[in-house]
Amino acid sequence: MRYRQPAICLRVSDYSETSQVVAFLTRSEGVVRLLAKGTKRAKSKSGGAIDLLSEGELVFTHSRSGGLGTLMEFSETVSHTPLRRQSARLNSALYLIELAGEMLAQDDPHPEVFDLLHNALARLAQDDAPIPAVVAYFQWRLLRNVGLLGELDRCVGCGSAATGAGGGRGAWFSSTRGGMLCASCGGRADESVRVTGKTVTALAALAAAETGKKVALPDDQAERVKALLSYHITYQLGKCLKLTKHVIGPKRP
Ligand SMILES: [Zn+2]
Repeated sequence: MRYRQPAICLRVSDYSETSQVVAFLTRSEGVVRLLAKGTKRAKSKSGGAIDLLSEGELVFTHSRSGGLGTLMEFSETVSHTPLRRQSARLNSALYLIELAGEMLAQDDPHPEVFDLLHNALARLAQDDAPIPAVVAYFQWRLLRNVGLLGELDRCVGCGSAATGAGGGRGAWFSSTRGGMLCASCGGRADESVRVTGKTVTALAALAAAETGKKVALPDDQAERVKALLSYHITYQLGKCLKLTKHVIGPKRP
């Protein structure tokens, strides 16, 4: 089948002197892996080698049973030059595409994730972008979309609601148990991380943002919630993403 889709480049590797294998997130076909013949020639139809983050209109053939498809044409429609100029923006953008590439299975469409990624990259490129908040919101929404966000409103151990911001004794989070734990259940879990009141507040802000409310997420809170969601992502993937060390700061959840 032949498709024409908006697409964002998630991964690139060399295939030969002149060709690449490129993984794209497409809007309606999900992640596809394509052989891009001749793209490394200067006069190729794509205007040269395809880079990470390249975004545009993609024409390709592939079968939904997986495997390698073929890139027919790619024309960049969004310039990510502003993103590439500053390392904090660029590293955050690279983290988002690495995360999307690891979390999404091949040929499993998630149009909402495509839109989220498109919007997050556009926002990161803006001068006034709250970079940590953009990353935290993307982590949150991606986890929600793939069904891994977990239970954040009550304790997954005893069901008590004492994990909220008013919980007083703070809360814990366990990736393997799939959500928040109250102070009494948290200490007993094999795997859990202590969560400060600030992080609980930030989680509530992300939940509100998801419903369309305008919320501010100060950098301090955003850094903490990023660290928590990154901890969860690392556990779920069974490995640490390459960009984690450049994007997740020293703040504890
Ligand atoms: Zn409990």
